[in-house]
Amino acid sequence: MSEPKKRIFIGLIVFTVFLITAVTVALYLVPYVGLKNIHRHAPAAVCITMGGMIGALSLGVGLLVVTILRGKEIFGATKLRGIVIEILFPIMIVVGKLVGISKDKVQQSFVEVNNLLVQAKWHSARPERILLLMPHCLQFSDCDIKITSDVYKCKSCGKCRIKDLVELAHKYNVHLSVATGGTLARRRVAEAKPQIIIAVACERDLTSGIQDAYPLPVIGIINDRPFGPCFNTSVDITKVAEALAHLVGGSKSPSPAVG
Ligand code: SF4
Repeated sequence: MSEPKKRIFIGLIVFTVFLITAVTVALYLVPYVGLKNIHRHAPAAVCITMGGMIGALSLGVGLLVVTILRGKEIFGATKLRGIVIEILFPIMIVVGKLVGISKDKVQQSFVEVNNLLVQAKWHSARPERILLLMPHCLQFSDCDIKITSDVYKCKSCGKCRIKDLVELAHKYNVHLSVATGGTLARRRVAEAKPQIIIAVACERDLTSGIQDAYPLPVIGIINDRPFGPCFNTSVDITKVAEALAHLVGGSKSPSPAVG
């Protein structure tokens, strides 16, 4: 993960915790005056509860930051991806907007951090349980071969990256599917029943795909769009090859639980 992306993510996450802490403290202070009139122990009880919540949140974020910086799973970090996906990411989009960081940048950062957390946990997977899931816009627009029904019909003319992806799928003996949208992508996942997915798409589709698929692990690779969105897109094939090599070339077995 590049340094600027790490900095954006860590900066946003620390700022998010600061905001949550400030709101929580404010929520405590405002009713405080009235609380002791309800019960003499009520202020202390509320204080301990809120302190516990802030402590748990800070601990979770601390573990997350250490995992990101080390690139290795640490004790108690297995649920961190879920916390990032379900709780922190939606807050970070709002916080990013408040401090002037574009949604695209926050999404890129989210995808990178998700990848780090997936790769920190998953060092290998059986090739037949790996699914390469590609968007249809990777196919050269004038090619009339229907690769969504069977990507192996590709004639390997080399006008688009489908040729390289088919070669990679053969080399590593993994599944390769091309989907035209979320519905077809979900069907491909249901058919292939993968342990792990390597997906290529734009920031928006990858982000929603990673969220939809959770707890199924997804390694996301953002596509290149030299002609604008959804048309003759491309992908850095070395990134796909590296993600495959990490999983297929790994030596340590993955934990049975996903997440
Ligand atoms: S590489 Fe395959 S999918 Fe791409 S244009 Fe050529 S035949 Fe069509």
